[in-house]
Amino acid sequence: MQMILASTNRGKYAELKDKLAPMGIDLLFGGDFDAPLNIEETGSTYEENAELKARAWVKATGTAAMADDSGLEVDALGGKPGIHSARAVSGSDADRVNWLLKSLNGKTDRSARFACAIVVIFASGKKISATEYCNGKIALSPAGTGGFGYDPIFIPDGYDKTFAQIGSDIKNKISHRAKAVKTITQIIKSVVQF
Ligand code: IMP
Repeated sequence: MQMILASTNRGKYAELKDKLAPMGIDLLFGGDFDAPLNIEETGSTYEENAELKARAWVKATGTAAMADDSGLEVDALGGKPGIHSARAVSGSDADRVNWLLKSLNGKTDRSARFACAIVVIFASGKKISATEYCNGKIALSPAGTGGFGYDPIFIPDGYDKTFAQIGSDIKNKISHRAKAVKTITQIIKSVVQF
């Protein structure tokens, strides 16, 4: 069966395509379609936002679609920036990293987690979803050059380096997104008839 990834991120696409191929799923790249690329994320959870994107793509293409939504939850900030992580403050990723470090000034609790929801909507309208987390803490200052977003200040549990320092091989095994991909592929295996 064919499924469209509701994203124009080629890195995400390459990772997912390889995982779905052995299950007989031919993942198509959203960037190759003239379909709704910019869906307003008006949901109040990661899952709702991912579902909005996936449903819009199914409606536009008639083909099953997969979408994801993710964010960083910081305990001392009551779970912020959460679903607003990409736009917590305007500007660049570096501006958002600086905003977060400033917001934690003087706070001792630096615990945080990344969250990722992946939703698949089949052409029939049936929905499956998986939400997974990666726990860790916020570093005192940015370190590392890899990754994106808040990676330079997120230290996953069990490591003493940030996501931006540990490299994509490790990050792609332990991250919120890697875990959600693993769970959703297990669920797809159990619901798709071959
Ligand atoms: P979205 O899932 O594309 O809506 O974006 C979520 C936002 O959360 C990103 O723009 C980043 O700011 C942040 N984020 C999500 N996952 C990660 C990650 O693995 N590393 C760093 N930042 C992330």
